[in-house]
This record gives sequence, C-alpha cells and structure tokens, in this order.
Amino acid sequence: MFGRTRKTQTVVIIGMGDTGVLVAARLSKHFRVIGIATKPNLVSGQELGKRLTDLSWWQHHYNMPLNRFKALNDVALVHGRAHSVDPPTKTVTVCAPDNSQQTLSYDYLVVASGTSNGFWRDDVVRSSTQISDLLTADAAHIESANTVAVIGGGPCGVSSALNIQRAYPKKRVSLYLSGTAPLPGYHEQAQHYYENELVTAGVEVLKNHRAVITDVPPRAGNVDFESGDTTSADAIIWTIGNRKPHTGFLPSDYLDEDGFVNTLPTLEVAGDDTMFAIGDVASTDPERSSARNWAYGILVHNLKRKATGKAADKIYSPPTHRWGSIVGPQYDGLTLHQETGKRMRLSRWLVDHVLLPAVVQRLIYKGIDRAQD
Ligand SMILES: Cc1cc2nc3c(=O)[nH]c(=O)nc-3n(C[C@H](O)[C@H](O)[C@H](O)COP(=O)(O)OP(=O)(O)OC[C@H]3O[C@@H](n4cnc5c(N)ncnc54)[C@H](O)[C@@H]3O)c2cc1C
Repeated sequence: MFGRTRKTQTVVIIGMGDTGVLVAARLSKHFRVIGIATKPNLVSGQELGKRLTDLSWWQHHYNMPLNRFKALNDVALVHGRAHSVDPPTKTVTVCAPDNSQQTLSYDYLVVASGTSNGFWRDDVVRSSTQISDLLTADAAHIESANTVAVIGGGPCGVSSALNIQRAYPKKRVSLYLSGTAPLPGYHEQAQHYYENELVTAGVEVLKNHRAVITDVPPRAGNVDFESGDTTSADAIIWTIGNRKPHTGFLPSDYLDEDGFVNTLPTLEVAGDDTMFAIGDVASTDPERSSARNWAYGILVHNLKRKATGKAADKIYSPPTHRWGSIVGPQYDGLTLHQETGKRMRLSRWLVDHVLLPAVVQRLIYKGIDRAQD
C-alpha cells in the first residue's frame, strides 16, 4: 500500500521527546527519517515526583539513550537544536553542540518540540553526562531540604508533593494551590481522591494561594503570594503550568497567539501541506493533550496517506477530562484515573513485570535494547 513511499521520501522530526520517538519508531519503516534531538537520550517529561525521589528507578524507565530503541535503528539522529525552518525550500537549519550549522531537506516535517514548563523540561542541548549531573543535583536538592514548598496543584505539583512526603515523612511538605482544588482539568473524583491522599500522607495543602511570579523563580528561599502572605522553604518546586512552547524556529504565521503551533484535528499544521505537529507544542485543544492520547497513531496514518497522494482522514478528538497516572507507581501499585472519574489500581507486580516491560517498552516503544544494563 505504501510502496510509492519506499524510503524515497524524507521525514524530519524536530524534537525526540515522548512523542517524537513514538512517531519516528513508526515512520522509519516507510520513510527516511531524521530526528533532531537536543539530547542523546529520551528524557521524559513524565513522573516528576518519582524523578525527584526515586531517581535510579526513574532513570531506568524514563532517561533512555535513543540508540537503545530498537525501532530507531534506521533513524538518523542529529544532535542539536532546530534553529529555523524555511517552508518554501522545505529545509531546517540545525545548530550542533559546537555551534556549527547544517541544513536538512524534508518532504514532510513533524514538529514535536514540546514546551518548557519548569526545570525538568527544556530545549537546551545537553550531553548524557550533563543530563545525569542535572538529574542527580535536582534529587539531591530535595533530599537535603527540611522544608519543601510546591507551588501549583496540577499533576506535576501533586506528584511532587505526594512522592516527596511519602519518601521523606520527616520533611515538611507544603502544596500551594491557586484555587480551591488540586488537579484542574481532571474529573472531580480524581481531585477529591488526591486531596485526601495528600492530607493523609502529611502534606500541608494550602488553597487560594496564588504565588507572585518573578522572572527567575527561586529554587529556595522566599515565595510571595498575591494575598500578601509570604513563605520560605529550603526547596521550592514551581509547577505552575506556565508553559513556553519551543517554536522559535517556525515562521510566526504558523503559530497561535500563545506561540503554539496552529494544528488541525488531523495533526496537519494549518496552511502547510507538508507539516504536522504533535504533543505539548500542538494547539489541538486547550489542554494540548495529544501526547497522552495515542495521537501518534493518527499522525503516522495521516502522514502515510498524504505521502501517497491521499487526504488525511483520521481526526484527533481530545477526551473531556485528563486521565492517566498522576503520581506514578507507589509501593502498593499504580492508580490510573479514567476520564469518567473511575480509577483502576494495578498491582506493583503487574506494573514492574507486565506494564512497563511488555506494554510500554515492547508494545508502545517497539523494543528496548537492554544489552548495556
Ligand atoms: C506513552 C505516554 C504516556 C503518558 N502518560 C501520561 C500520564 O499518565 N499522565 C500525564 O499527565 N501525562 C502523560 N503523558 C504526557 C506527558 O506528560 C507529556 O505531555 C509529554 O511528555 C509531552 O511530550 P512531547 O513530545 O510533546 O514533549 P517532550 O517530551 O518535552 O519532547 C520535546 C523534545 O523536543 C526538544 N526540542 C525542543 N526544542 C527543540 C528544537 N528547537 N530542536 C530540536 N529539539 C527540540 C526538547 O528538548 C525535548 O527533548 C504521557 C505521554 C506519553 C507519550
């Protein structure tokens, strides 16, 4: 069916994070695929709380060298940062770690460059050693703190506060919410469930505390609130969802007023016949939720159709509520929240022996080479 695409066409993917890897792994059978990666590893944006409190477990699953993904064997990886895209000539200029530049030509371009939304996600070019050093320093900062203030009650804030309090019961952990409930966008049953879990674990949950945001939010010291209150902590974690899209390389008429890529429900970029976008950078819906709702299958399907001269025909429909794991695997298993509010608990055994190795690594990522473990 895709005979005409037999690796004569080139797909360039900007960003090899959670979604870029999934798309590359599925397109490389049919196209020449080039992935532009700021990091030689997939450094996932998932499970922040586990990353700060159980780093060796987190690294094993979420900081994975790209060359270990079996399905990326045929993908040419370019370590660097996309600097500019020129749609008329269908080229991307990439800046390498040594500041040299190269220009790549594409038939199709996939923008999967994500967003910065805190110290754990950025568009900085780093080596494996630099990645490891930063991860270790972040976890050590939390370990050495007696008091921890988490600002913002979305999934990253809830995950950080709960995991830190459970890992270090003697620390004083405070979670500051700007409204009256944690987890905006989640079903209210998930909100109630986690408010109860936080309080039971010993987290101090403070509602209606909207922090004053400064240009460089401090990692320790004082935090001022709009109410006039102030607090201080040995470690401050800012999880305020203040996302900055990584789109400086695109012409501004491809972007919405907040700087996200103007993306159609087919995951095509509006106004361009050769460009697609996915993940946190794509303005598919107000939650920009395509990273966690299997949209990579839609993008791959539609791109393959376009490459054979057909119109894209699969549509991304976002769920009504956010769903999934919020705090990651705990000693008693993994709680998954559905968009209907229902929750499901998988035992720790099932998570460690079936979900992560078989479902995530084998089915979703199509195999990880563990030879170097
Ligand atoms: C299988 C799966 C399960 C998930 N489960 C959950 C869940 O249970 N709960 C939940 O809340 N969320 C979940 N998520 C979603 C997740 O939290 C984020 O939404 C996801 O990490 C965003 O992926 P992304 O590819 O858009 O961005 P990222 O993973 O941040 O990747 C973007 C990459 O692009 C790079 N980049 C940026 N600029 C450039 C440039 N100029 N040139 C080249 N590269 C650049 C960045 O450095 C980064 O490496 C899940 C996601 C997946 C894929």
